Amino acid sequence: MTDPKPLANQPMTAVLHADVAIVGGGLVGATLAVALARHGIKVAVADRLDPAVMTGEQFDGRASAVALSSQRLLAAIGVWEHVAAAAPIREIRVSDGPSLFFLHYDHAVLGNEPLGFMAENRVLRRALAAALQAAGDGVTRVSAAPVVGFQQDADFGELTLADGRRIRAPVVVAADGRDSFVRGLAGIPVTGWTYSQVGIVATIGHARAHDGIAHEHFLPAGPFAILPLADDAGVHRSSLVWTERADAAESYLRMDDAAFLAEIERRVGGFLGALHLIGPRFSHPLGLQFAARYVEKRLVLAGDAAHGIHPIAGQGLNLGWRDVAALTEILVDMKQLGLDLAHPSGLERYERWRRADNLMMAGVTDLLNRLFSNDVGPIRLARDLGLGAINRLPAVKKILMRHAMGTVGDLPRLMRG
Ligand SMILES: Cc1cc2nc3c(=O)[nH]c(=O)nc-3n(C[C@H](O)[C@H](O)[C@H](O)COP(=O)(O)OP(=O)(O)OC[C@H]3O[C@@H](n4cnc5c(N)ncnc54)[C@H](O)[C@@H]3O)c2cc1C
Repeated sequence: MTDPKPLANQPMTAVLHADVAIVGGGLVGATLAVALARHGIKVAVADRLDPAVMTGEQFDGRASAVALSSQRLLAAIGVWEHVAAAAPIREIRVSDGPSLFFLHYDHAVLGNEPLGFMAENRVLRRALAAALQAAGDGVTRVSAAPVVGFQQDADFGELTLADGRRIRAPVVVAADGRDSFVRGLAGIPVTGWTYSQVGIVATIGHARAHDGIAHEHFLPAGPFAILPLADDAGVHRSSLVWTERADAAESYLRMDDAAFLAEIERRVGGFLGALHLIGPRFSHPLGLQFAARYVEKRLVLAGDAAHGIHPIAGQGLNLGWRDVAALTEILVDMKQLGLDLAHPSGLERYERWRRADNLMMAGVTDLLNRLFSNDVGPIRLARDLGLGAINRLPAVKKILMRHAMGTVGDLPRLMRG
């Protein structure tokens, strides 16, 4: 194998060789690139977009709940040190609309560590860009380069970029999101459905501090989450994920700022004091999907390319990061054993390991969304009684908290802390 060279300087007919070629330099693909490079595996990562676009104010207004186990992964591979601002999540309060029933998780019940952190996606992308830069020759980043072709032979997978350049590697990872082009080229079908819901995302500033408490109000159209962000220049801030019926969302998105803020104030209530909007609003159609296979001759799916879930529990990206940690562990083991990185024993292990976990979370989030996104009297009574009962069962609450922190189950080494 030849050493990777900066593809930008190569003629159009050039072939870049790497140990692993990653399609998609989003939050999952970029993390995988850093993790593999830190373990001496040479990586090429291609994204159709320019990094400057992906970190801009207009690109992605979301903030992500980073579970404690995901934060451990990011710390272990040298990404977390570049995260400019993140807010610890110390408590989670769940309420069923205006009713008094609520579920309360407090990190102090389990120890000193927070349940996780909230970090803006653009902050995470900037941290990943810095970590990719620090990886030096270990990573070749190919930007503004859509992948338009994928082929496999006995020894390599080969990607073709829109301008004709090619990347060859024993393993190709498709981390190119829900509409994964490479998954389609490989003929891997997906199963799933849309939720007839849209996730409206906005950032608010507020007069009172949030004290690290995340709130989730279950409203008839879907969950309304108020998620604590780090203060910015002395301004207290929170990120909102407002799930709304798709047919109603458009009218909210078209409102002027004053009317939109009034709708937010109605849903948030008064506990944060006076509110104001920060930056643009965003919307995301919501759906559930999972790929029929995660592995195909010299191809592996990771992140949303493999599974897309409802954001009700803030777990989609955390699942993608668990894919990253598991795949890194397996590929590093293959390398240490001197085996082909795409050896079936490793890739099949990845499929078994990640598929069960991802399917379980997809099922749980689907069930929660169906149970809570309605105002049907008997269902509402049953779920309120359920929430109230769980709230009085400390042992059950501890288990649920550990799931939210991502610290249970068969965790990859990089997530164990
Ligand atoms: C409203 C909302 C809130 C959410 N909140 C949370 C949360 O709090 N916590 C959490 O864990 N998850 C959350 N999620 C889920 C999370 O955002 C996703 O799971 C995550 O962003 C998926 O990352 P990814 O890198 O797999 O895919 P993507 O972010 O879709 O990245 C794919 C990348 O591939 C590139 N690409 C695509 N096609 C090509 C091609 N042909 N050639 C080259 N490059 C290509 C794209 O440019 C992109 O950069 C939320 C989701 C929504 C909708």
